[in-house]
Amino acid sequence: MTDGSTDSGTPGIPEHGEKKRRAVEPSPPARVMSIHAHPDDQEFTVGGTLAKWARAGSAIVTVCVTRGTGGSNRFTPPDMTRETLGPIREAEQRNACRVLGIPDVWFLDYQDGMLEATIALRRDLTRLIRRFRPDAVLCGDPTVRYYGSTYLNHPDHRVAADAALDAVFPSAGTRLIFPELLAEGLEPHEVRQVYIHGAERPDTFVDIAGTLDVKLAALREHRSQMGEWDPKEFLVEWAREQGVRAGLEVAEAYRHMTLEGP
Ligand SMILES: [Zn+2]
Repeated sequence: MTDGSTDSGTPGIPEHGEKKRRAVEPSPPARVMSIHAHPDDQEFTVGGTLAKWARAGSAIVTVCVTRGTGGSNRFTPPDMTRETLGPIREAEQRNACRVLGIPDVWFLDYQDGMLEATIALRRDLTRLIRRFRPDAVLCGDPTVRYYGSTYLNHPDHRVAADAALDAVFPSAGTRLIFPELLAEGLEPHEVRQVYIHGAERPDTFVDIAGTLDVKLAALREHRSQMGEWDPKEFLVEWAREQGVRAGLEVAEAYRHMTLEGP
């Protein structure tokens, strides 16, 4: 999950047509939906932000598009089956959310490792957005194919992010897209803010100095994926890399969009 990118543009010169980087951290949204492909994606990427916002009173729900039944090459025993692993990873994600202060996790039962950006997935995410009615959605960056020279972005990550953004706009806010959702009593809802993690040109930085330890504790709940590996050094280093761009000791970095609607 490492963001090996060091390209943050030319120092002091804003990109053409873009405003200068925001210095002020956005205030916690009242209602937040955090959408990810697998159990543990959230804890690696945005856990510090969510813990901070939960403490500030945000209502947060986590959406996991798969149950993570693909496991990991390093730590999933060879005799493990998808059927056995699913409930384990689901429980680990619920425990991790509890650590972060998130009371609810919604799982969609798509297959780990085989995710496709289908209309069915977009509809399912649209349904959840209309039901929970978040002010802000957090997701990954579907445009990033690889990070640095050591990590190919997982196809499920790209697909989950793509479907999440397509559900935010235009599906969630447009009455006549997915009319079957109206029949379920789900009125359109316009999401105003999007926080995209893993973006190559982040413009917004959340200071996680007060919640990095919570992020670490939440990540450790994913025991079936960690084995003997202690993620502390990795997480701290990554948080420092993200913070340095904003003069923060440790941070989570985003492309932050405020949607103006149609
Ligand atoms: Zn993942």
